[in-house]
Amino acid sequence: MSTVANTIHEPGRELQIIEDVDVVVAGGGPAGFPAAIAAARRGCKVLLLERYGFLGGLATGGLMGPIFGYGSGKTLLLGGIPIEVLRELQAIDGAPRNVDNWFGVRFDPELLKHAADRMVTKAGVQLLLHAWVVAVVRKNDRIDAVVIESKSGRQAVRTKMVIDATGDGDVAVFCGCEYTKGRVADGKTQSMGTKFRIGGVDMKNVMAHHAEERQNVNRAIDEGRIPAYHAFFGEVSEQGVTLRDTEITPTATRCPGDGTNAYDLTRAELKARRDTLDMVEYYRQNVRGYENCYLIDTPAVIGVRETRQILGLETVTGADVLANRKREDSIARGCWFIDIHCPLGRHCSKTNLCDKNCKITPDCHMKTKHRDQLYDTLCQSGFNTDNPGWYDVPYGSLIPRTVDNLLVSGRCISADPGGMASVRVIATCFALGEAAGAAAALCLQKKRSPRELPVQALQQDLRAAGVPL
Ligand SMILES: Cc1cc2nc3c(=O)[nH]c(=O)nc-3n(C[C@H](O)[C@H](O)[C@H](O)COP(=O)(O)OP(=O)(O)OC[C@H]3O[C@@H](n4cnc5c(N)ncnc54)[C@H](O)[C@@H]3O)c2cc1C
Repeated sequence: MSTVANTIHEPGRELQIIEDVDVVVAGGGPAGFPAAIAAARRGCKVLLLERYGFLGGLATGGLMGPIFGYGSGKTLLLGGIPIEVLRELQAIDGAPRNVDNWFGVRFDPELLKHAADRMVTKAGVQLLLHAWVVAVVRKNDRIDAVVIESKSGRQAVRTKMVIDATGDGDVAVFCGCEYTKGRVADGKTQSMGTKFRIGGVDMKNVMAHHAEERQNVNRAIDEGRIPAYHAFFGEVSEQGVTLRDTEITPTATRCPGDGTNAYDLTRAELKARRDTLDMVEYYRQNVRGYENCYLIDTPAVIGVRETRQILGLETVTGADVLANRKREDSIARGCWFIDIHCPLGRHCSKTNLCDKNCKITPDCHMKTKHRDQLYDTLCQSGFNTDNPGWYDVPYGSLIPRTVDNLLVSGRCISADPGGMASVRVIATCFALGEAAGAAAALCLQKKRSPRELPVQALQQDLRAAGVPL
């Protein structure tokens, strides 16, 4: 599409400054609301801006579950706000009272909205929902104000510090920060996708026949009769995805495209919904235990796994994940494996992970960067193993190279494709958010920019708040 011939000049205008705060957090997802809480608890006046009408980002709006990244088996690797979120969920029956496997913690995405509301309110965070951050006003190397659009019009918020937790690094991009996007070979990002909820599942019947049915469904996938990328069955008992034993939330759709392109997002929304109905219908007609199943809902938004990684002072790499790299400048722990979903959105029944011998997508991330090594390690440390290893996330991966009062948090931090494929899970994002919020507050207290803040001071502060480092 031509962008040169079809342009129009938008005249500049005066904007009303509706707030003057210490910290703006842009985006209320798993990496955003903990950041707001952490900064507010340290005495900052914090405004949390979220474009949707609820907090939790993809964890709630995307019907996610379980929460990955807390640890593995009996080993819990996180503390601080990530654990407080879990306790808040448990208090309202949004998660099991006893967690016996930290690999994946079941939760109710609807109740996570409530837990997040409670936590930000209690911490004294000011919340503005239905507000898109659309631009920044800069003064030299600093952000002076962020510009928002909402039903109230175009307005500005003056701020001393900004945390970009938009998932896509929107604020950093408005500032002109450099970023990478997708795999090295061609810039393609992991496929988008959704979870969806199916009710009326007879789980006993499912589990009684699942080995045989799995073969049938896999055959249907390989023959193109069902648009799933893997067969789903008794996730309740196998992986513990939902809290209710007649309900499952499969992750089975895949949609290629760029999650920062509205046309691709539109195509993905339509494809995911169409594929969902086809899958539910196939299961109802063909799979034992699903005879009376029904679609409860599809998520509010398509799930975007990977878009921009803002280039920071340090970068989390796939090699760090594989080596469980420990660092002096750690501000959070990551423990999820390198979880890459085919950028071409292809389906393959063999596994939902990339297959070493896959002939379908020979140009995937893993192929472009020591794929064999990645694959072998992945198999050793992948699903269903009790691998208590972790890698450290360096403070510098939250600090963009060029702006003096900006931190990034969540899936858009500085990471290569392998690193981002691990840090992107929910509990890791909670932990990154807490670190970003604490860093912003310390920067203001000590009158330092994020790059000038000694990491030891941040670590000491986080440890005092219960974060194991
Ligand atoms: C299909 C799929 C399945 C997944 N399954 C799991 C799983 O089972 N377990 C797990 O742990 N992880 C899972 N993940 C990963 C996980 O959900 C996300 O990576 C995680 O939510 C990222 O958190 P975040 O806060 O960085 O970004 P997001 O969750 O994307 O949150 C970003 C927030 O910022 C808001 N926002 C964005 N732009 C703006 C703007 N300009 N102005 C204002 N607000 C803005 C958004 O509305 C959103 O609330 C899955 C992801 C996908 C796509």
